[in-house]
Amino acid sequence: MTPAILALNAGSSSLKFGLFKDTDQLPLLFKGQIDGVGSNAHFSVVNPHGEHLVDEVCQHISDQACALAHLGQWLSQFKTQFTLSGVGHRIVHGGRDFHCAVTITPDIIERLTKLTPLAPLHQPHNLAAINTIAKRMPDIPQVACFDTAFHRTQNKLAQRFALPREYYERGIQRYGFHGTSYEWISLRLKTLAPALAQAKVVVAHLGSGASLCAMVNGKSVETTMGFTALDGLPMGTRCGALDPGVLLYLMQTEWLNAEQIQDLLYTRSGLLGLSGISNDLRVLSDHDASEAREAIDYFVYHIVAKIGSLAASMGGIDGLVFTAGIGENSAAIRRDVCKGLAFLGIHIDSVANDNAKQEQCLSPAGAPKPVWVIPTNEECMIAHHTQQCLAQL
Ligand code: ADP
Repeated sequence: MTPAILALNAGSSSLKFGLFKDTDQLPLLFKGQIDGVGSNAHFSVVNPHGEHLVDEVCQHISDQACALAHLGQWLSQFKTQFTLSGVGHRIVHGGRDFHCAVTITPDIIERLTKLTPLAPLHQPHNLAAINTIAKRMPDIPQVACFDTAFHRTQNKLAQRFALPREYYERGIQRYGFHGTSYEWISLRLKTLAPALAQAKVVVAHLGSGASLCAMVNGKSVETTMGFTALDGLPMGTRCGALDPGVLLYLMQTEWLNAEQIQDLLYTRSGLLGLSGISNDLRVLSDHDASEAREAIDYFVYHIVAKIGSLAASMGGIDGLVFTAGIGENSAAIRRDVCKGLAFLGIHIDSVANDNAKQEQCLSPAGAPKPVWVIPTNEECMIAHHTQQCLAQL
């Protein structure tokens, strides 16, 4: 039987997975996802050539536990071919303690559970997946890969808030997120554009969650998300950077409690809140309402402004990478962002941009500040770390 590593990325409404052969290059066997968990669940699986093995609506998948059970059921057809050597998980918040991936123990589960208030949309789902697998397959080692870990290379100015020092001692600091995605881009750049990989690059991870990372020589020096995954760019349903005075006003004048504020900031704001129509950029792009246009313009405006700020924090910018659902698929957002960054010498070729597929440079040959599209691959990064942790057992 072939040893294999399962990488899981359990989000608020989706379960993404990849099954990799546990050998040197970690070749992909299948990857897929269950989207729309709780509403209109859809299960899809592709083979390494992108051919669909499954593409079906699954109405009965009402929560993450059902999604995991459904995936387990589907994978069980291969139990005579593959044997699981381990399962790796994307864990959104690793707090201060975790600077790299670790093999999961009951003590680690307890420490990660305490971080739930810092990532209320994600951490409970990440932990639920770990607990389900621990119950069903207690002998299979599990590994936690943290979205916060990649940013621990930042200097202390980038990681602090201007609050009294004792708050920092209590763990209130900027952590940053999407680190598993940024680490993958950093790795791919070394192969695709070795000179750029060593230079000053902004990576724009634009999905339903969105953030930017400034990297120098492949290491994170600044990022737009902070203590939680609310800060920075506006997102599908999250507000992004907000004057904290707004929260005081809502508490003192409109008497909103913590739960109501959490719901407002995490689930009713961003593109959805601004447009009043949808959190999905595809829906907004096809919509005639001026509110839809305004939400998109707000999104682009803040991406441009924050890339300018990250460029300043690095003392310049040598290139830009787009990734994640919007970054990989929306030529219009890439075009408008790059238009706004022309003052920094960022230019793209419109034909290359309109036809971008897979890993591709969008700038004219020899452009001094190349712009790339590089699909993220968090599952492969998770499998890689899982393999490394398993080797130490
Ligand atoms: P996450 O992993 O944070 O859930 P993804 O990286 O999968 O998010 O991105 C999902 C988002 O990508 C969707 O909400 C949608 O707005 C956007 N998206 C996907 N495909 C396209 C497309 N072809 N054009 C514009 N936006 C797209």
